[in-house]
Amino acid sequence: MDTNKNEKVRCLIIGSGPAGYTAAIYASRANLSPVLYEGIQPGGQLTTTTEVENFPGYPEGVTGTTLMDDLRKQAERFGADIRVGIATQTDLSVAPYKVTIDGEKVIETDALIIATGATAKYLGLADEQKYAGMGVSACATCDGFFYRKKVVAVVGGGDTACEEATYLASLASHVYLIVRKPYLRASKVMQDRVLNNPKITVLFEHNTVGLFGENGVEGAHLVKRLGEPDEEKVDIAIDGFFLAIGHKPNSDIFKPWVDTDDVGYIQTIPGTPKTKVPGVFAAGDVADPHYRQAITAAGSGCAAAIEMERYLSELGK
Ligand code: NDP
Repeated sequence: MDTNKNEKVRCLIIGSGPAGYTAAIYASRANLSPVLYEGIQPGGQLTTTTEVENFPGYPEGVTGTTLMDDLRKQAERFGADIRVGIATQTDLSVAPYKVTIDGEKVIETDALIIATGATAKYLGLADEQKYAGMGVSACATCDGFFYRKKVVAVVGGGDTACEEATYLASLASHVYLIVRKPYLRASKVMQDRVLNNPKITVLFEHNTVGLFGENGVEGAHLVKRLGEPDEEKVDIAIDGFFLAIGHKPNSDIFKPWVDTDDVGYIQTIPGTPKTKVPGVFAAGDVADPHYRQAITAAGSGCAAAIEMERYLSELGK
């Protein structure tokens, strides 16, 4: 942790996913001497994924951790000051803006890029907390290793759920994919991978209502067609329960100052990374309810850094 007390910088970036690191690459190459705080999950969400096959420039694919390491090194090469620390409070009422790091150090900055990303959602069952670290996980890449030759379930019907189910099927003896709708929302290629994998059983129209087990997860209580006249209780025996039902944008500490939508995504001036606060920009998943891809996050980080440079030069800073 950085223990120096208060500090004044020209340009502060919060978050270390593709958006934050790309903003740092552009800002450092523009001689803005950016300071970047990595946040809770250095490298962001991609460090919890396996193979990234759709980031341009990697014809054979690349692991999420390698991609993020490369982006960080590229930012450091041009002098970005990358630090460990979590932004815990902000005051964006007047420039220079104040961002508190780890509840103690206050950074004053002329311009700010918010690239705090999004965090995995849970169903909200008491059992998810009861079995936290004992069979419940929101990251197949992090925890899949523990379930070799075991039976696991993945909840969700999007690309993440299909990707995680496919990954887990390479380790586990069997995977249930628990989908609340009668269809998958995932892209066709991901759906095909799941539906053609003999180690994956898709349970359409199933909701999880509880987990059970003595010393960890031993099974899940499901209900088929929940709320319908013909609803049906189904119990499955599993050793691991993985959530893949989407994410919550990490925007809470900025909400008093910037506009957010119902879910919490930061709203920017359409077609730009500008928030309604001059000199405060939002990039990546924290401001993107639509695309949420590494490459779109990187692109918006680039746009935010370019806009920040223009803003600072207009101010003569
Ligand atoms: P999505 O929002 O796309 O999907 C969430 C899934 O979880 C949906 O099937 C949804 O069901 C289900 N769900 C949500 N809440 C609940 C609940 N309470 N109970 C049961 N099921 C629930 O999120 P993803 O994380 O899958 O994807 C986010 C974005 O990232 C997408 O744009 C996706 O395309 C992209 N992505 C791309 C990848 C790639 O290309 N390699 C890999 C991973 C993600 P319902 O359909 O009923 O709403």
